[in-house]
Amino acid sequence: MQTFTFNRASSADQAIALAADAQVRFIAGGTTLTDLMKLGVEHPARVVDINRLPLAEVLPNPDGSLSIGALVRNSDLANHLNVKQDYPVLSQALLSGASAQLRNMATTGGNLLQRTRCMYFRDNLSPCNKREPGSGCSAIDGNNRTLAIFGTSDRCIATNPSDMNVALTALEAQIHIKGSGGERIVPIGDFFLQPGQTPERETVLQAGDLITQVTLPKPMANARSAYLKLRDRASYEFALVSAAVVLQIEDGRVRQARVVLGGVGTVPWRALEAEQALVGAPASEATWQAAAEAAVRNAKPQSENGFKIELAKRCVAHALATVAQTV
Ligand SMILES: Cc1cc2nc3c(=O)[nH]c(=O)nc-3n(C[C@H](O)[C@H](O)[C@H](O)COP(=O)(O)OP(=O)(O)OC[C@H]3O[C@@H](n4cnc5c(N)ncnc54)[C@H](O)[C@@H]3O)c2cc1C
Ligand code: SF4
Repeated sequence: MQTFTFNRASSADQAIALAADAQVRFIAGGTTLTDLMKLGVEHPARVVDINRLPLAEVLPNPDGSLSIGALVRNSDLANHLNVKQDYPVLSQALLSGASAQLRNMATTGGNLLQRTRCMYFRDNLSPCNKREPGSGCSAIDGNNRTLAIFGTSDRCIATNPSDMNVALTALEAQIHIKGSGGERIVPIGDFFLQPGQTPERETVLQAGDLITQVTLPKPMANARSAYLKLRDRASYEFALVSAAVVLQIEDGRVRQARVVLGGVGTVPWRALEAEQALVGAPASEATWQAAAEAAVRNAKPQSENGFKIELAKRCVAHALATVAQTV
């Protein structure tokens, strides 16, 4: 049995002071961390409970942005009136994830930092560079049907499994971080790290950094958004492919567009080529197809997941048509 010290923090500063070491983990909803500790994948020397910190509110700001505390539960966020009205893509993404019970426990900060569902990562008997740097990657020549086609390296091809992260990327969210060196704000596009040669490093967080909140910028004027998730079964399943789409259409033409793919990237995958194909084009089926083709142009399939390219194309085209109401 692996023993560890357990502390309950009553302030952010106390939590950060207790955690200034790579062997420490914060615990929020616990739906990722406890699983990984039971499997022996994570073995922190100290666990710091942050559930008593005052970070569980969703607050509209005078500039039209929305602040979401790191401890806001996924269910509360999905059902918050401002989120449902102004950022439906986020509400839909959250409600497509896990189960009602899990969403009642899972938090915004914990969801951001959930770990990959690559089967070898959770199996201590298999080599895995992410779990044990330098041990090798069992997935590259193994079972990789569900893994990534974008952002991979010769060290790791695992996907970021979160639905919420895909929507937050489409909304250009900002992550607020507090650490021993002070506070900083990181755009979500810079928050996640592709595996490269160091797949064990998944974000720009340093040891002891606490996520305090996430801010959503003021919603794009007259924008419509949606999240489409394709998976092996209809619920309680991670995405094979998903798409978060935000569109602003005026006079029959696309003025602004954001397209982000989930289930296919080592990080939430922003399809900039698709966005370029959309902006200025007429809101039509031909445009959605062209954007879908552009979205997968640089895909690099593994031995078992070439099907994700066609699936991603269809997912993007259908999500765009749904948002633009041309279906
Ligand atoms: C059976 C099952 C099915 C699931 N299906 C889906 C799915 O379909 N889609 C999906 O997106 N997700 C799914 N999930 C994952 C689920 O969404 C995550 O487990 C959850 O969001 C994690 O949140 P948490 O608060 O429980 O995190 P915790 O387990 O408490 O923490 C996770 C990690 O984040 C760190 N952490 C937590 N809060 C902070 C903070 N404020 N600052 C710094 N570090 C922090 C912890 O130290 C830990 O490393 C599923 C999970 C399970 C168990
Ligand atoms: S894909 Fe990444 S997480 Fe999966 S076995 Fe390879 S190194 Fe580990």
